[in-house]
Amino acid sequence: MTRVILVHGGAGAATKDEPAYRAGLLRAAETGWSRLEGDGDAVAAAVAAVAAMEDDPVFNAGYGSVLNASGEVECDAAVMRGADRKFGAIASVRTVRNPVLLAHEVLDSRHVMVVGEGAVRFGARRGVATVDPAQLITQERFSAWAEWMARGQPVLDGEDALEGLTPRTGLAGDPGCDTVGAVALDGRGRLAAATSTGGISFKLPGRVGDSPLPGCGFWADGRAAASSTGEGEKIARVLLCRVACERAAGGDLDLDPALADLAAIDGSGGLILLAADGSWRAGYNTEMMGHAWRRDGMAAAECAGTRPSDRPA
Ligand code: ASP
Repeated sequence: MTRVILVHGGAGAATKDEPAYRAGLLRAAETGWSRLEGDGDAVAAAVAAVAAMEDDPVFNAGYGSVLNASGEVECDAAVMRGADRKFGAIASVRTVRNPVLLAHEVLDSRHVMVVGEGAVRFGARRGVATVDPAQLITQERFSAWAEWMARGQPVLDGEDALEGLTPRTGLAGDPGCDTVGAVALDGRGRLAAATSTGGISFKLPGRVGDSPLPGCGFWADGRAAASSTGEGEKIARVLLCRVACERAAGGDLDLDPALADLAAIDGSGGLILLAADGSWRAGYNTEMMGHAWRRDGMAAAECAGTRPSDRPA
C-alpha cells in the first residue's frame, strides 16, 4: 500500500516571504511523513503535519494566526478519520497553541465539536497545553491589525467592520491566506484529513468559517480525504471537500467542477485531495496555494504552488 502525506499552506494572494513559506511546507510534509513510517497511522500523520505549521509563524494557524476585529487570535481546527468518519472539531479557541491537538482530543471523545472556553477546559482535562493569548500574536500580525485600526477599519464590501468581514484588505501582513491542512494515507490504506486556521483577518469576534465544518473545510472517508482553504462563508455553501471526495470515490479526481461551483457564487479558495489508491490533486482559483507532498519512493518532500507563476494555466 502506497503511503502519502500531502499538505497545503493556504490559498490566496502571493505570500511575502516565499522561502520561509516553502520551507515550512516542506518541514510539515516531512513531519507528517515521519509519522507514516513503520506502521504509522494516517490521523497521527495529518495531525503532526498540521501541528508543525501551527508552530510556524509564517502560517495563519496557531502561533501567527491573523487577528480578529478586536485584535485577538481565535482559532478553528478539525481532524477526521476516514475509516469510521469520526471527526473532532473546535472553534473560537483563544488560548491553545496547537488547536489541531485539541481537535484530535475531540475526535477521541464522544463529541464532534466543542467551542470557545468549554473546548479549552475540555482540552486541559486531557493535557492539551494552554498559553497566554498574547503568546499566539506575532509582531507582524499585530502591526497589520494596528494598521487596519489606524485606517479606520476599512472594509471592501462596505459593511460595518464589526458586522461584516474583511476578506481581502490589501494591507501589509494580510495576504488573505495561510490556513493550513493535511491529508494522509497510511500503509494500511487508512485516510485522514486535518485543517487549522486563524480564520479571516479582522473577522467578527466569534465568527467561524468553513475550516471546522465537516464536508466544508475537511472531509475523510474510506475512499478519499480533502482539506480546503479560502473564503469560508462561500466554501461552506458548496461543501467543497465533501463534493470533491464524492467525485473522487467515483474515480474522478478533477477538482475543476468543485472549484467552478465555488467560483459560481463568487468564492475563491483551493483544496487538496487524496484518494485511497494514493493518487492526489491540488487545485485553487486564487493566485497561489502552496502545497508539499511525500510518498513512498520519494527521498524527500517536494513543494509547488508557492508562487503565482506556479499556477497551472
Ligand atoms: N477558510 C478560512 C476561513 O474562512 C480562511 C482561509 O482559508 O484563508 O476561516
